Amino acid sequence: MDFILTLIYLIASITYILGLKMLGHPKTARRGNLIAAFGMGIAIIGTIFIYPKEVPMHIYTLIGIAILIGTVIGWLVAKKVAMTKMPELVSIFNGMGGASAALIALIEFHHYQGQTLSIVTILAGLIIGSVSFSGSMIAWGKLNGTLKKPIRIPKYNIINNLFFIALVAFAGFIAYQGIDSQLYLYVLFVGALAYGILFVLPIGGADMPVVISLLNSFTGLAAALGGFLYGNMVMLTGGILVGSAGTILTFAMCDAMNRSLSSVIFGAFGAGTISNESSREIKGNITETTPSDVAILMNYANKVIIVPGYGLAVAQAQHIIHELEELLVKKGVEVKYAIHPVAGRMPGHMNVLLAETNVSYDRLIEMEDVNPEFPNTDVVFVVGANDVVNPAAHNDPSSPIYGMPILEAENAKYIVVNKRSMKPGYAGIENELFYNQKTSMLFGDAKDALGKLVAELKNM
Ligand code: NDP
Repeated sequence: MDFILTLIYLIASITYILGLKMLGHPKTARRGNLIAAFGMGIAIIGTIFIYPKEVPMHIYTLIGIAILIGTVIGWLVAKKVAMTKMPELVSIFNGMGGASAALIALIEFHHYQGQTLSIVTILAGLIIGSVSFSGSMIAWGKLNGTLKKPIRIPKYNIINNLFFIALVAFAGFIAYQGIDSQLYLYVLFVGALAYGILFVLPIGGADMPVVISLLNSFTGLAAALGGFLYGNMVMLTGGILVGSAGTILTFAMCDAMNRSLSSVIFGAFGAGTISNESSREIKGNITETTPSDVAILMNYANKVIIVPGYGLAVAQAQHIIHELEELLVKKGVEVKYAIHPVAGRMPGHMNVLLAETNVSYDRLIEMEDVNPEFPNTDVVFVVGANDVVNPAAHNDPSSPIYGMPILEAENAKYIVVNKRSMKPGYAGIENELFYNQKTSMLFGDAKDALGKLVAELKNM
Protein backbone atom coordinates (compact mmCIF):
# COMPACT_ATOMS: atom_id res chain seq x y z
CA MET A 1 0.00 0.00 0.00
CA ASP A 2 2.85 2.32 0.96
CA PHE A 3 4.42 1.72 -2.43
CA ILE A 4 1.18 2.57 -4.27
CA LEU A 5 0.81 5.80 -2.30
CA THR A 6 4.44 6.77 -3.02
CA LEU A 7 3.83 6.04 -6.69
CA ILE A 8 0.69 8.21 -6.67
CA TYR A 9 2.64 11.03 -5.02
CA LEU A 10 5.39 10.69 -7.61
CA ILE A 11 2.89 10.87 -10.47
CA ALA A 12 1.16 13.85 -8.83
CA SER A 13 4.49 15.66 -8.38
CA ILE A 14 5.30 15.12 -12.06
CA THR A 15 1.89 16.49 -13.10
CA TYR A 16 2.54 19.66 -11.05
CA ILE A 17 5.85 20.25 -12.80
CA LEU A 18 4.35 19.49 -16.22
CA GLY A 19 1.30 21.65 -15.49
CA LEU A 20 3.43 24.56 -14.38
CA LYS A 21 5.57 24.29 -17.49
CA MET A 22 2.45 24.24 -19.69
CA LEU A 23 1.04 27.31 -17.97
CA GLY A 24 3.90 29.21 -19.60
CA HIS A 25 2.05 29.44 -22.92
CA PRO A 26 -1.61 30.37 -23.55
CA LYS A 27 -1.95 27.50 -26.05
CA THR A 28 -1.12 24.83 -23.45
CA ALA A 29 -2.17 26.63 -20.26
CA ARG A 30 -5.68 25.15 -20.02
CA ARG A 31 -4.40 21.60 -20.50
CA GLY A 32 -1.57 22.22 -18.03
CA ASN A 33 -4.07 23.37 -15.43
CA LEU A 34 -6.19 20.24 -15.94
CA ILE A 35 -3.15 17.94 -15.74
CA ALA A 36 -1.99 19.52 -12.46
CA ALA A 37 -5.57 19.41 -11.11
CA PHE A 38 -5.72 15.70 -11.99
CA GLY A 39 -2.45 15.18 -10.08
CA MET A 40 -3.86 17.03 -7.08
CA GLY A 41 -7.03 14.92 -7.34
CA ILE A 42 -5.21 11.59 -7.22
CA ALA A 43 -2.96 12.85 -4.41
CA ILE A 44 -6.04 13.72 -2.32
CA ILE A 45 -7.86 10.48 -3.11
CA GLY A 46 -4.70 8.44 -2.46
CA THR A 47 -4.09 10.16 0.87
CA ILE A 48 -7.65 9.59 2.00
CA PHE A 49 -8.10 5.98 0.90
CA ILE A 50 -4.61 4.47 0.96
CA TYR A 51 -3.45 6.16 4.16
CA PRO A 52 -1.43 3.52 6.04
CA LYS A 53 -2.84 4.24 9.51
CA GLU A 54 -6.33 3.37 10.70
CA VAL A 55 -8.74 6.31 10.49
CA PRO A 56 -12.11 6.37 12.35
CA MET A 57 -15.20 6.50 10.17
CA HIS A 58 -16.39 9.88 11.42
CA ILE A 59 -13.14 11.45 10.18
CA TYR A 60 -13.96 10.23 6.66
CA THR A 61 -17.40 11.79 6.99
CA LEU A 62 -15.87 15.11 8.10
CA ILE A 63 -13.35 15.04 5.25
CA GLY A 64 -16.15 14.25 2.78
CA ILE A 65 -18.27 17.15 4.02
CA ALA A 66 -15.30 19.56 3.90
CA ILE A 67 -14.42 18.50 0.35
CA LEU A 68 -18.04 18.87 -0.74
CA ILE A 69 -18.40 22.36 0.74
CA GLY A 70 -15.02 23.47 -0.65
CA THR A 71 -15.74 22.06 -4.11
CA VAL A 72 -19.19 23.63 -4.40
CA ILE A 73 -18.03 27.07 -3.21
CA GLY A 74 -14.82 26.98 -5.28
CA TRP A 75 -16.66 25.81 -8.41
CA LEU A 76 -19.43 28.41 -8.16
CA VAL A 77 -17.10 31.31 -7.40
CA ALA A 78 -14.63 30.39 -10.15
CA LYS A 79 -17.46 29.97 -12.69
CA LYS A 80 -19.05 33.31 -11.86
CA VAL A 81 -16.01 35.53 -11.48
CA ALA A 82 -15.47 38.21 -14.13
CA MET A 83 -12.03 38.25 -15.73
CA THR A 84 -11.35 41.71 -14.26
CA LYS A 85 -11.99 40.34 -10.76
CA MET A 86 -9.54 37.46 -11.12
CA PRO A 87 -6.76 38.96 -8.95
CA GLU A 88 -9.28 39.29 -6.09
CA LEU A 89 -10.22 35.64 -6.45
CA VAL A 90 -6.58 34.60 -6.54
CA SER A 91 -5.94 36.54 -3.34
CA ILE A 92 -8.84 34.80 -1.54
CA PHE A 93 -7.77 31.35 -2.74
CA ASN A 94 -4.22 32.11 -1.70
CA GLY A 95 -5.40 33.27 1.70
CA MET A 96 -7.22 29.96 2.15
CA GLY A 97 -3.97 28.10 1.45
CA GLY A 98 -2.22 30.15 4.12
CA ALA A 99 -5.06 29.53 6.57
CA SER A 100 -4.86 25.77 5.95
CA ALA A 101 -1.13 25.78 6.66
CA ALA A 102 -1.73 27.77 9.87
CA LEU A 103 -4.51 25.39 10.97
CA ILE A 104 -2.24 22.37 10.43
CA ALA A 105 0.33 24.06 12.68
CA LEU A 106 -2.27 24.83 15.36
CA ILE A 107 -3.50 21.22 15.40
CA GLU A 108 -0.13 19.47 15.22
CA PHE A 109 1.70 21.57 17.80
CA HIS A 110 0.85 19.27 20.72
CA HIS A 111 1.50 16.08 18.79
CA TYR A 112 5.15 16.86 18.21
CA GLN A 113 6.22 18.04 21.66
CA GLY A 114 9.81 17.16 22.47
CA GLN A 115 10.85 17.08 18.80
CA THR A 116 12.55 20.45 18.41
CA LEU A 117 12.99 20.38 14.62
CA SER A 118 9.31 19.53 14.12
CA ILE A 119 8.23 22.26 16.54
CA VAL A 120 10.38 24.82 14.71
CA THR A 121 8.82 23.67 11.43
CA ILE A 122 5.33 23.97 12.91
CA LEU A 123 5.91 27.44 14.36
CA ALA A 124 7.45 28.66 11.08
CA GLY A 125 4.41 27.26 9.21
CA LEU A 126 2.10 28.98 11.68
CA ILE A 127 3.74 32.39 11.23
CA ILE A 128 4.10 32.22 7.45
CA GLY A 129 0.62 30.73 6.88
CA SER A 130 -1.08 33.28 9.15
CA VAL A 131 0.75 36.23 7.56
CA SER A 132 -0.25 34.93 4.15
CA PHE A 133 -3.88 34.53 5.21
CA SER A 134 -4.43 37.93 6.84
CA GLY A 135 -2.26 39.71 4.24
CA SER A 136 -4.25 38.14 1.40
CA MET A 137 -7.53 39.23 2.99
CA ILE A 138 -6.28 42.84 3.17
CA ALA A 139 -5.07 42.57 -0.44
CA TRP A 140 -8.52 41.34 -1.42
CA GLY A 141 -10.14 44.32 0.35
CA LYS A 142 -7.81 46.70 -1.46
CA LEU A 143 -8.44 45.19 -4.86
CA ASN A 144 -12.21 45.27 -4.55
CA GLY A 145 -12.08 48.85 -3.34
CA THR A 146 -13.27 48.29 0.27
CA LEU A 147 -9.92 49.48 1.61
CA LYS A 148 -9.29 52.35 -0.74
CA LYS A 149 -6.48 54.29 0.89
CA PRO A 150 -3.11 52.94 1.91
CA ILE A 151 -3.03 53.32 5.69
CA ARG A 152 0.38 54.41 6.92
CA ILE A 153 1.22 54.89 10.53
CA PRO A 154 4.31 57.04 11.09
CA LYS A 155 7.57 55.06 10.91
CA TYR A 156 5.61 51.97 9.85
CA ASN A 157 8.71 50.38 8.33
CA ILE A 158 10.54 50.37 11.65
CA ILE A 159 7.45 49.30 13.61
CA ASN A 160 6.70 46.46 11.16
CA ASN A 161 10.28 45.22 11.20
CA LEU A 162 10.45 45.31 15.00
CA PHE A 163 7.11 43.52 15.19
CA PHE A 164 8.40 40.80 12.87
CA ILE A 165 11.62 40.37 14.89
CA ALA A 166 9.53 40.13 18.08
CA LEU A 167 7.34 37.42 16.49
CA VAL A 168 10.33 35.33 15.43
CA ALA A 169 11.97 35.80 18.85
CA PHE A 170 8.76 34.72 20.59
CA ALA A 171 8.51 31.61 18.38
CA GLY A 172 12.19 30.88 19.12
CA PHE A 173 11.46 31.20 22.83
CA ILE A 174 8.55 28.72 22.61
CA ALA A 175 10.70 26.21 20.69
CA TYR A 176 13.81 26.65 22.85
CA GLN A 177 11.95 26.37 26.14
CA GLY A 178 9.82 23.48 24.83
CA ILE A 179 6.67 25.31 25.99
CA ASP A 180 3.54 23.24 25.43
CA SER A 181 0.97 25.94 26.01
CA GLN A 182 -2.18 26.61 24.01
CA LEU A 183 -2.11 30.23 25.19
CA TYR A 184 1.42 30.91 23.89
CA LEU A 185 0.53 29.29 20.59
CA TYR A 186 -2.56 31.45 20.15
CA VAL A 187 -0.63 34.60 21.08
CA LEU A 188 1.83 33.76 18.30
CA PHE A 189 -1.06 33.04 15.91
CA VAL A 190 -2.80 36.36 16.63
CA GLY A 191 0.54 38.20 16.45
CA ALA A 192 1.27 36.69 13.02
CA LEU A 193 -2.24 37.59 11.78
CA ALA A 194 -1.70 41.16 12.98
CA TYR A 195 1.68 41.31 11.27
CA GLY A 196 0.10 40.17 7.96
CA ILE A 197 -2.38 43.05 8.23
CA LEU A 198 0.31 45.60 9.10
CA PHE A 199 2.52 44.31 6.29
CA VAL A 200 -0.05 44.81 3.52
CA LEU A 201 -2.06 47.82 4.80
CA PRO A 202 0.49 50.52 3.85
CA ILE A 203 1.04 49.14 0.35
CA GLY A 204 -0.85 50.88 -2.45
CA GLY A 205 -3.53 49.22 -4.54
CA ALA A 206 -1.54 49.21 -7.78
CA ASP A 207 1.11 47.09 -6.14
CA MET A 208 -1.38 44.49 -4.91
CA PRO A 209 -0.73 41.88 -7.65
CA VAL A 210 2.97 41.99 -6.72
CA VAL A 211 2.03 41.57 -3.07
CA ILE A 212 -0.39 38.74 -3.86
CA SER A 213 2.30 36.97 -5.80
CA LEU A 214 4.68 37.43 -2.85
CA LEU A 215 2.05 36.14 -0.40
CA ASN A 216 1.49 33.25 -2.80
CA SER A 217 5.13 32.29 -2.41
CA PHE A 218 4.66 32.49 1.38
CA THR A 219 1.72 30.09 1.15
CA GLY A 220 3.82 27.71 -0.93
CA LEU A 221 6.57 27.85 1.67
CA ALA A 222 4.08 27.21 4.49
CA ALA A 223 2.66 24.21 2.61
CA ALA A 224 6.19 22.91 1.96
CA LEU A 225 6.88 23.13 5.71
CA GLY A 226 3.76 21.00 6.26
CA GLY A 227 5.10 18.49 3.74
CA PHE A 228 8.44 18.44 5.56
CA LEU A 229 6.67 17.89 8.88
CA TYR A 230 4.63 14.94 7.62
CA GLY A 231 7.38 13.60 5.38
CA ASN A 232 4.80 13.97 2.60
CA MET A 233 6.62 14.29 -0.71
CA VAL A 234 3.74 15.57 -2.82
CA MET A 235 2.95 18.35 -0.33
CA LEU A 236 6.62 19.25 -0.24
CA THR A 237 6.95 19.35 -4.04
CA GLY A 238 3.70 21.29 -4.47
CA GLY A 239 4.71 23.78 -1.80
CA ILE A 240 8.18 24.30 -3.23
CA LEU A 241 6.78 24.77 -6.75
CA VAL A 242 4.21 27.33 -5.58
CA GLY A 243 6.85 29.05 -3.45
CA SER A 244 9.42 29.32 -6.20
CA ALA A 245 6.92 30.17 -8.96
CA GLY A 246 5.49 32.91 -6.73
CA THR A 247 8.95 34.29 -6.05
CA ILE A 248 9.91 34.30 -9.74
CA LEU A 249 6.62 35.99 -10.69
CA THR A 250 7.09 38.60 -7.96
CA PHE A 251 10.48 39.58 -9.33
CA ALA A 252 9.29 39.43 -12.95
CA MET A 253 6.48 41.87 -12.15
CA CYS A 254 8.83 44.18 -10.28
CA ASP A 255 11.10 44.12 -13.34
CA ALA A 256 8.18 44.99 -15.63
CA MET A 257 7.48 48.07 -13.53
CA ASN A 258 11.19 48.81 -13.13
CA ARG A 259 10.94 48.75 -9.36
CA SER A 260 12.70 46.83 -6.67
CA LEU A 261 10.78 44.57 -4.33
CA SER A 262 11.81 46.72 -1.39
CA SER A 263 10.36 49.82 -3.08
CA VAL A 264 7.06 47.96 -3.48
CA ILE A 265 7.01 46.96 0.18
CA PHE A 266 8.49 50.11 1.66
CA GLY A 267 8.02 52.62 -1.15
CA ALA A 268 5.22 54.98 -2.04
CA PHE A 269 4.33 54.23 -5.68
CA GLY A 270 1.07 52.60 -4.70
CA ALA A 271 0.22 55.49 -2.42
CA GLY A 272 -0.19 57.83 -5.34
CA THR A 273 -2.14 55.39 -7.41
CA ILE A 274 -5.35 54.78 -5.58
CA SER A 275 -5.29 57.76 -3.32
CA ASN A 276 -5.86 60.34 -6.08
CA GLU A 277 -2.66 62.16 -5.19
CA SER A 278 -2.60 65.32 -7.27
CA SER A 279 -0.66 64.92 -10.46
CA ARG A 280 0.93 67.31 -12.91
CA GLU A 281 -1.70 69.05 -15.00
CA ILE A 282 -1.15 68.98 -18.73
CA LYS A 283 -2.02 72.03 -20.77
CA GLY A 284 -3.01 71.59 -24.39
CA ASN A 285 -5.79 70.64 -26.74
CA ILE A 286 -7.15 67.30 -27.61
CA THR A 287 -8.46 66.30 -31.03
CA GLU A 288 -11.66 64.31 -31.13
CA THR A 289 -12.34 61.87 -33.95
CA THR A 290 -15.19 59.68 -35.21
CA PRO A 291 -15.44 55.99 -36.14
CA SER A 292 -15.69 56.86 -39.83
CA ASP A 293 -12.51 58.98 -39.76
CA VAL A 294 -10.65 56.20 -37.93
CA ALA A 295 -11.96 53.68 -40.48
CA ILE A 296 -10.54 55.79 -43.34
CA LEU A 297 -7.21 56.13 -41.54
CA MET A 298 -6.95 52.39 -40.97
CA ASN A 299 -8.21 51.44 -44.42
CA TYR A 300 -5.27 53.22 -46.03
CA ALA A 301 -2.67 52.15 -43.49
CA ASN A 302 0.04 49.59 -44.18
CA LYS A 303 0.61 48.72 -40.57
CA VAL A 304 -1.62 49.02 -37.50
CA ILE A 305 -0.58 48.16 -33.96
CA ILE A 306 -3.33 47.66 -31.40
CA VAL A 307 -2.51 48.45 -27.78
CA PRO A 308 -5.07 46.71 -25.56
CA GLY A 309 -5.53 47.74 -21.93
CA TYR A 310 -7.78 47.34 -18.94
CA GLY A 311 -10.71 49.13 -20.66
CA LEU A 312 -10.84 46.41 -23.34
CA ALA A 313 -11.45 43.87 -20.59
CA VAL A 314 -14.05 46.07 -18.87
CA ALA A 315 -15.96 46.56 -22.12
CA GLN A 316 -15.58 42.86 -23.02
CA ALA A 317 -14.57 44.07 -26.45
CA GLN A 318 -12.11 41.26 -27.17
CA HIS A 319 -14.33 39.63 -29.82
CA ILE A 320 -15.02 42.80 -31.72
CA ILE A 321 -11.33 43.79 -31.71
CA HIS A 322 -10.51 40.40 -33.19
CA GLU A 323 -13.12 41.06 -35.87
CA LEU A 324 -11.48 44.43 -36.59
CA GLU A 325 -8.09 42.74 -36.85
CA GLU A 326 -9.40 40.10 -39.30
CA LEU A 327 -11.10 42.76 -41.39
CA LEU A 328 -7.92 44.82 -41.64
CA VAL A 329 -5.81 41.77 -42.46
CA LYS A 330 -8.25 40.92 -45.28
CA LYS A 331 -7.69 44.43 -46.61
CA GLY A 332 -3.94 43.76 -46.68
CA VAL A 333 -3.05 45.72 -43.53
CA GLU A 334 -0.35 44.28 -41.27
CA VAL A 335 -1.85 44.05 -37.76
CA LYS A 336 -0.14 43.31 -34.44
CA TYR A 337 -1.05 43.61 -30.79
CA ALA A 338 1.45 45.28 -28.45
CA ILE A 339 1.37 43.54 -25.07
CA HIS A 340 2.61 45.37 -22.00
CA PRO A 341 3.43 43.00 -19.12
CA VAL A 342 1.23 44.89 -16.64
CA ALA A 343 -1.57 45.98 -19.00
CA GLY A 344 -4.88 45.21 -17.34
CA ARG A 345 -5.18 44.17 -13.75
CA MET A 346 -3.20 40.96 -13.50
CA PRO A 347 -0.11 39.46 -15.08
CA GLY A 348 -0.92 38.12 -18.54
CA HIS A 349 -4.40 39.72 -18.47
CA MET A 350 -4.30 40.78 -22.13
CA ASN A 351 -2.94 37.42 -23.31
CA VAL A 352 -5.75 35.58 -21.54
CA LEU A 353 -8.38 38.01 -22.79
CA LEU A 354 -7.28 37.80 -26.42
CA ALA A 355 -6.74 34.04 -26.24
CA GLU A 356 -10.48 33.80 -25.49
CA THR A 357 -11.19 34.96 -29.05
CA ASN A 358 -8.51 32.81 -30.68
CA VAL A 359 -6.32 35.71 -31.73
CA SER A 360 -3.22 34.12 -33.23
CA TYR A 361 -0.36 34.14 -30.69
CA ASP A 362 2.06 35.23 -33.40
CA ARG A 363 0.28 38.57 -33.47
CA LEU A 364 0.82 39.23 -29.77
CA ILE A 365 4.15 41.01 -29.52
CA GLU A 366 5.84 41.65 -26.19
CA MET A 367 6.90 45.17 -25.22
CA GLU A 368 10.66 44.89 -25.87
CA ASP A 369 10.05 43.45 -29.34
CA VAL A 370 7.30 45.81 -30.40
CA ASN A 371 8.79 49.12 -29.22
CA PRO A 372 11.31 49.37 -32.10
CA GLU A 373 8.40 48.84 -34.53
CA PHE A 374 6.37 51.93 -33.58
CA PRO A 375 8.35 54.47 -35.70
CA ASN A 376 7.39 52.59 -38.88
CA THR A 377 3.76 52.04 -37.85
CA ASP A 378 1.06 54.09 -39.55
CA VAL A 379 -1.60 53.86 -36.87
CA VAL A 380 -1.41 52.85 -33.24
CA PHE A 381 -4.85 52.08 -31.89
CA VAL A 382 -4.89 52.32 -28.09
CA VAL A 383 -8.01 50.63 -26.75
CA GLY A 384 -8.82 51.11 -23.07
CA ALA A 385 -5.14 51.49 -22.16
CA ASN A 386 -3.66 54.48 -20.41
CA ASP A 387 -0.75 54.11 -17.98
CA VAL A 388 1.07 51.60 -20.17
CA VAL A 389 1.43 54.22 -22.95
CA ASN A 390 2.02 57.24 -20.70
CA PRO A 391 5.23 59.05 -21.79
CA ALA A 392 5.50 60.52 -18.27
CA ALA A 393 7.23 57.25 -17.42
CA HIS A 394 10.11 58.56 -19.58
CA ASN A 395 9.78 62.34 -19.29
CA ASP A 396 8.59 63.27 -15.84
CA PRO A 397 10.87 62.34 -12.92
CA SER A 398 8.17 63.51 -10.48
CA SER A 399 5.62 61.06 -11.89
CA PRO A 400 4.79 58.01 -9.76
CA ILE A 401 5.29 55.81 -12.82
CA TYR A 402 8.66 57.37 -13.74
CA GLY A 403 11.05 54.62 -14.80
CA MET A 404 8.32 52.09 -15.64
CA PRO A 405 8.92 50.70 -19.14
CA ILE A 406 6.06 51.69 -21.47
CA LEU A 407 4.82 50.94 -24.96
CA GLU A 408 6.26 53.82 -26.99
CA ALA A 409 3.07 54.48 -28.96
CA GLU A 410 3.97 58.17 -29.31
CA ASN A 411 6.61 57.22 -31.90
CA ALA A 412 3.99 56.08 -34.45
CA LYS A 413 2.77 58.28 -37.34
CA TYR A 414 -0.80 58.49 -36.00
CA ILE A 415 -2.24 57.53 -32.66
CA VAL A 416 -5.92 56.84 -32.03
CA VAL A 417 -7.01 56.43 -28.42
CA ASN A 418 -10.34 54.89 -27.49
CA LYS A 419 -11.63 55.50 -23.97
CA ARG A 420 -14.82 56.89 -22.50
CA SER A 421 -13.56 60.19 -21.07
CA MET A 422 -10.42 62.09 -20.10
CA LYS A 423 -10.32 60.36 -16.73
CA PRO A 424 -6.92 58.98 -15.69
CA GLY A 425 -6.06 55.29 -15.55
CA TYR A 426 -5.05 53.20 -12.57
CA ALA A 427 -2.04 55.31 -11.58
CA GLY A 428 -4.36 58.33 -11.27
CA ILE A 429 -2.21 60.58 -13.44
CA GLU A 430 -2.73 62.62 -16.59
CA ASN A 431 -1.43 61.30 -19.89
CA GLU A 432 0.28 63.75 -22.25
CA LEU A 433 -0.07 61.27 -25.13
CA PHE A 434 -3.72 62.32 -25.39
CA TYR A 435 -2.59 65.93 -26.05
CA ASN A 436 -0.02 64.94 -28.68
CA GLN A 437 -0.63 66.58 -32.08
CA LYS A 438 -0.54 63.14 -33.72
CA THR A 439 -3.23 61.78 -31.38
CA SER A 440 -6.99 61.65 -31.95
CA MET A 441 -9.42 60.63 -29.23
CA LEU A 442 -12.24 58.26 -30.13
CA PHE A 443 -14.51 58.60 -27.10
CA GLY A 444 -16.96 55.90 -26.10
CA ASP A 445 -17.24 52.45 -24.62
CA ALA A 446 -14.76 50.19 -26.42
CA LYS A 447 -17.40 47.66 -27.53
CA ASP A 448 -19.66 50.40 -28.94
CA ALA A 449 -16.88 52.36 -30.59
CA LEU A 450 -15.30 49.27 -32.12
CA GLY A 451 -18.70 48.06 -33.33
CA LYS A 452 -19.18 51.34 -35.22
CA LEU A 453 -15.63 51.27 -36.53
CA VAL A 454 -16.03 47.72 -37.85
CA ALA A 455 -19.35 48.65 -39.49
CA GLU A 456 -17.68 51.62 -41.23
CA LEU A 457 -14.77 49.49 -42.42
CA LYS A 458 -17.12 46.84 -43.80
CA ASN A 459 -18.70 49.48 -46.00
CA MET A 460 -15.39 50.53 -47.53
P1 NDP B 1 -5.30 51.89 -17.06
O1 NDP B 1 -6.01 51.55 -15.82
O2 NDP B 1 -4.12 52.77 -16.99
O3 NDP B 1 -6.32 52.58 -18.08
C1 NDP B 1 -7.47 51.95 -18.50
C2 NDP B 1 -8.28 52.96 -19.26
O4 NDP B 1 -9.37 52.25 -19.79
C3 NDP B 1 -8.85 54.04 -18.39
O5 NDP B 1 -8.16 55.25 -18.59
C4 NDP B 1 -10.32 54.11 -18.76
O6 NDP B 1 -10.62 55.45 -19.19
C5 NDP B 1 -10.43 53.16 -19.93
N1 NDP B 1 -11.68 52.40 -19.91
C6 NDP B 1 -12.31 51.85 -18.84
N2 NDP B 1 -13.44 51.26 -19.21
C7 NDP B 1 -13.54 51.41 -20.55
C8 NDP B 1 -14.50 51.03 -21.51
N3 NDP B 1 -15.61 50.35 -21.18
N4 NDP B 1 -14.28 51.35 -22.81
C9 NDP B 1 -13.18 52.06 -23.16
N5 NDP B 1 -12.24 52.46 -22.28
C10 NDP B 1 -12.41 52.14 -20.99
O7 NDP B 1 -4.97 50.51 -17.79
P2 NDP B 1 -3.65 49.99 -18.51
O8 NDP B 1 -4.02 48.62 -18.97
O9 NDP B 1 -3.13 50.95 -19.49
O10 NDP B 1 -2.58 49.95 -17.36
C11 NDP B 1 -2.67 49.04 -16.31
C12 NDP B 1 -2.46 49.77 -15.01
O11 NDP B 1 -2.87 48.92 -13.97
C13 NDP B 1 -1.01 50.12 -14.73
O12 NDP B 1 -0.95 51.29 -13.96
C14 NDP B 1 -0.54 48.92 -13.93
O13 NDP B 1 0.59 49.18 -13.13
C15 NDP B 1 -1.76 48.69 -13.10
N6 NDP B 1 -1.89 47.36 -12.60
C16 NDP B 1 -1.53 46.28 -13.35
C17 NDP B 1 -1.64 45.02 -12.84
C18 NDP B 1 -1.21 43.82 -13.62
O14 NDP B 1 -0.75 42.85 -13.01
N7 NDP B 1 -1.38 43.80 -14.92
C19 NDP B 1 -2.21 44.84 -11.54
C20 NDP B 1 -2.67 46.06 -10.86
C21 NDP B 1 -2.47 47.25 -11.40
P3 NDP B 1 -12.14 55.98 -19.12
O15 NDP B 1 -12.58 55.82 -17.72
O16 NDP B 1 -12.02 57.41 -19.57
O17 NDP B 1 -12.93 55.14 -20.08
